[in-house]
Amino acid sequence: MPNPLSHIPRETLAALEGVISDIDDTVTRDGRMEAEAFDAMHQLAAAGLKLIAVTGRPLGWSDVAAHLWPVDLAVGENGAGWAWMTGRTLGHGYYQEAGERAASQELLSGVRARVADQMPSIKTAGDQYLRRCDLAYDVGETVSLAQDDIDRLLHLIEETGARSTVSSVHAHAVPGDWNKALGVVRAARAVLDADLDSERDRWLFIGDSGNDAAAFAHFPVSVGVRNVEQHLGRLSSPPTYITQADRGRGFQEMAMAVLRNRDRTGGY
Ligand SMILES: [Mg+2]
Repeated sequence: MPNPLSHIPRETLAALEGVISDIDDTVTRDGRMEAEAFDAMHQLAAAGLKLIAVTGRPLGWSDVAAHLWPVDLAVGENGAGWAWMTGRTLGHGYYQEAGERAASQELLSGVRARVADQMPSIKTAGDQYLRRCDLAYDVGETVSLAQDDIDRLLHLIEETGARSTVSSVHAHAVPGDWNKALGVVRAARAVLDADLDSERDRWLFIGDSGNDAAAFAHFPVSVGVRNVEQHLGRLSSPPTYITQADRGRGFQEMAMAVLRNRDRTGGY
C-alpha cells in the first residue's frame, strides 16, 4: 500500500527539478480541468519547477496543452510523441522515426479490423481523429465497459500484435515499445536537455491508473492521487505515495507539499 505524502523526505522534495503529471482523473474531474489543479500548476511553474504533462490522450491534445498550459513539455498518446513551445512556435517530436510510424499504422489497421469483427459493439474513442500514433477504444468515457469486456479487448489487441494499456477512460492499442516513462525520458532528453534516467529521483511523477504504471515504476518519487486506490489491484507497479484528496485536489495537495518544503528551505 502506498505511503502518505508526509513520508516523502524533505530533502527529496527540496531537490526536485520538476513535476510530471498525468491528465485524466489526476488534474481533471468528470473530464474537466479542476481549478485547484490548474492554479497549483501555475504555482509550481512560478516557483521554478519544470512541468511535464503526459497523457494517453491524442497528440492533438498535447499540442493544446503545450500551447495553453504552464508546462514545458506535453507528451501524448502514452509516450508516442510530444509538443513544446519555443517562444510562440510549437515543436513536435515522435518516439518512432517516420518509417516506423508508417509500419505502425498498418499494424493498427489490423487491430481495427479484428476488433470490428470480433467485438463490433466496441467503439473507438471520441478523440481518435486527433491521434497520430495509437488507436484508442472507449471503455469508460461515454460508456462503462465490464471488466471482462475490457480484458477481452486487451487480449484481442495483443493477439493482433500490438501492445495494450488502459486508462480510466480508454483501452489503447500501442504499436511500438513506448510507454509513459520511456516517452517522457526521450522527450525530456530531446527538448529539455534533461536526463530523466540518471536524474529520475529529482522528478516527481503523479498519476492515477493503469497506463501510469510504467512511470510509477520508473520514478522513485511517484504519487497516486487518492482515486488510484480503485486501480491498485490491477496495477503492475503502484505509486510509492498517495494523496488524501482525489483527482485535481490531490494534485493540489502534492503541489502544496512541494511548495511548502521549498519555502522552508528558502527555495532555489
Ligand atoms: Mg489518468
